[in-house]
Amino acid sequence: MLPGVDRIFEVTKTDPFLSDIPKPLAVSSIRAVIETLRTHIIEHESGVSEENLSEAAVSEALKKNLIEKLKPKLLRVVNATGVVIHTNLGRSLLAAAAIKNLIAIGSGYSNLEFDLLKGIRGSRHSIVEDLLCELSGGEAAMVVNNNAGAVLLCLETIASGKKVIVSRGELVEIGGAFRIPDVMAKSGAILKEVGTTNRTHPFDYEKAIENDTALLLKVHLSNFSVVGFTASVDLKTLVELGKIYHLPVMEDLGSGTFIDFSKYGLPKEPTIQESVAAGADVITFSGDKLLGGPQAGIIVGKKETLDRIKKNPVARALRIDKFTLAALESTLSLYRNEENAVSAIPTLRMLTTPVKQIEKRAKRLLAILRNLNNSRLTVTLIDLSSRVGGGALPLLNLPSKCIGVEVSDMSANAVDRFMRGYATPVIGRIENDLFILDMRTVQEDEAAVIKSAMLDMLNRS
Ligand SMILES: *Cc1c(COP(=O)(O)O)cnc(C)c1O
Repeated sequence: MLPGVDRIFEVTKTDPFLSDIPKPLAVSSIRAVIETLRTHIIEHESGVSEENLSEAAVSEALKKNLIEKLKPKLLRVVNATGVVIHTNLGRSLLAAAAIKNLIAIGSGYSNLEFDLLKGIRGSRHSIVEDLLCELSGGEAAMVVNNNAGAVLLCLETIASGKKVIVSRGELVEIGGAFRIPDVMAKSGAILKEVGTTNRTHPFDYEKAIENDTALLLKVHLSNFSVVGFTASVDLKTLVELGKIYHLPVMEDLGSGTFIDFSKYGLPKEPTIQESVAAGADVITFSGDKLLGGPQAGIIVGKKETLDRIKKNPVARALRIDKFTLAALESTLSLYRNEENAVSAIPTLRMLTTPVKQIEKRAKRLLAILRNLNNSRLTVTLIDLSSRVGGGALPLLNLPSKCIGVEVSDMSANAVDRFMRGYATPVIGRIENDLFILDMRTVQEDEAAVIKSAMLDMLNRS
């Protein structure tokens, strides 16, 4: 009794909704709908009524299928997880100035690779180089697609076919399959690990230096911490060793920041300026972790080394696009005034928001939700903690204010699933069987979205 593809195409082609759909897309959707019905019939022989097989029913199912298909896949979501630099949710939100510049550069032509003074071809690398040198104290700088790319490019340039010495305690896996040993192998460099998991000393590096050693590498631990009986060699000592043995020193800072977080009551992270001052030849870090800009891999350091890196053909394969440059230049400019940076760059703002202010935001939403006056909904203000994310300060709990959501006839998992599936998905977390909205990462204009999602949930379920 299943209608044929041609028949459904015929009966639906005059429907205004379907008249705009390209034929191949309509046909593939019709096939998918009929196939789903066929599978259903085979699996539940008696469970399908003739009604469900009518042309009208199949046409309705087709419309639903197409509506799903035509929806954009990349959606804005509300991050109510409390993880500020959430890699799965797009890491950093851009500052208003960066967004403004993105629109300006994206909607017109630009001097991306054009020297306006000389009227000849210029270099995209020169656009943020001076600014990066000014902020970091480095002699030279360049930017590539992401920090993983920056690490690969630097290792390939400096140490392909040669040995790179790294402490065993720093062979990190960042997630998303970025592992220092694997990236090293792909760059053609040979990993020489020294020391032990918890303790590495200067003599460990010294003993390992051979004729074919090309680099001493230090890697920021990022997403874990070693505590207890530990020892590591600081960058300054590595640089001294490098001087004695005529070896360059590289540091992968991972998250990378220009700001001393201890001024804001947070634990200190090593700053980019400190690594430059310690004398590293090359330093790499992400544009979209603690820095709070677009996805990018930033390389700063000594001119001699950077000149070699810039000439590497791999640099061309990892080059950044004009949108990244536009957003990055605006973000970096904000760092000329630290106070501006902390208030205008969303990542920094969220990390330094006083808990009192988060409480105010939470209480406003709490009032909105209580005003829905739905007896099935119970919302409570709860003290929990947020996390930095993005491979920075992994042990830090940032005190935060959260809203616990309970719906009398729904499990926390069901609430979580509904909120995730809303038109503008709301991503929270579940703790102690309660759906939690952490207000640190919820933006001021997002309370309305949460309210509509809740209303929709209470009306439908
Ligand atoms: C995050 C991180 C990377 C990868 O940076 P992406 O910008 O995500 O490519 C590399 N090294 C360290 C130490 C990191 O923390």
